[in-house]
Amino acid sequence: MSEREHNLDGNKDEFFQGEVHHVSASKIADQFWCEMQLHLKLQLGLEPTPEMIKGSEIHRSLEEELGPVIEVEVTTNEDSIIAYILQMYSKLVTFNTLQVTRELPVIGKINGVPCLGIIDQIKIETDNEGKKLLVITDYKTRKSRRAPTYEQKRRNRIQMQVYWHLLSDLKSGKFSEEMFKDYFDMPEKLIPSEELLKQLPEEQIKLLEVTPPPELLTKVFEILRNLPEQSFELHAIYLHQEDRSEVCNDRSLYHQESFEVDMDWALGYWKGERKPSDCPQTWMCKFCQFSDNCSYFLREYLKDKKIKEEK
Ligand code: SF4
Repeated sequence: MSEREHNLDGNKDEFFQGEVHHVSASKIADQFWCEMQLHLKLQLGLEPTPEMIKGSEIHRSLEEELGPVIEVEVTTNEDSIIAYILQMYSKLVTFNTLQVTRELPVIGKINGVPCLGIIDQIKIETDNEGKKLLVITDYKTRKSRRAPTYEQKRRNRIQMQVYWHLLSDLKSGKFSEEMFKDYFDMPEKLIPSEELLKQLPEEQIKLLEVTPPPELLTKVFEILRNLPEQSFELHAIYLHQEDRSEVCNDRSLYHQESFEVDMDWALGYWKGERKPSDCPQTWMCKFCQFSDNCSYFLREYLKDKKIKEEK
């Protein structure tokens, strides 16, 4: 069951009545590529590109390597919450069994703003001193066989830092079961609809009969608290879209102080404390689908045109 299927993914409805309802790890990361582009994307929308579709297919097949992917369509808020809890639970059970899991949903708060994400992979790795640590990995797909630019790597490192922070708060209890219930406005009794049950495999139906969703949520938080120590190392693997060969392997570190500085800047936008920033690297504009609507680009373009005309 994928978070992408049940509308709690942070890709929609960021704002509710003008207030930020939640942000997603990927949108925070997008701010470190070009914040203006993210702003225009939120305003104008973006149809999935062939690259994005290809990327989703590769992520899905990586997820399938560890077990079947169960897709459900939900139409009620209660079913959405149940599907989310089920997904968290099944991914954590996979982790406890295989010492690796993929597409794990995480939730928490950053500077008071709820944040959602899906971690591509968590896995137990042994460090140089023989210590077993939990390592976060993010898979990125690339059309080109060239290594990503510094800006692309930086964007993706930020995304993994957000995951690290969310997982750490779930593990330590800083983001608690009560906070989860508050965020989802979770009713005390949570009963799956017939429509949802029809889509679930037999073992999940039995699981819900024996362990009602609120109890399952308690188990989820128990497993989270008992996860192994997190490594500060963050691992990004870039795969080529066609043959999935490895294009680049980028290891970086989570660093609390720099994360706080970055998040103070990023969350300022979501809280409405400042306007979106212009693009810091003009070369990015060449690849941008929003240049026709971008005041920064049009300003620079007109400036260039004027200079050429004056020559
Ligand atoms: S045209 Fe350039 S500055 Fe404008 S949104 Fe696109 S990348 Fe950002």
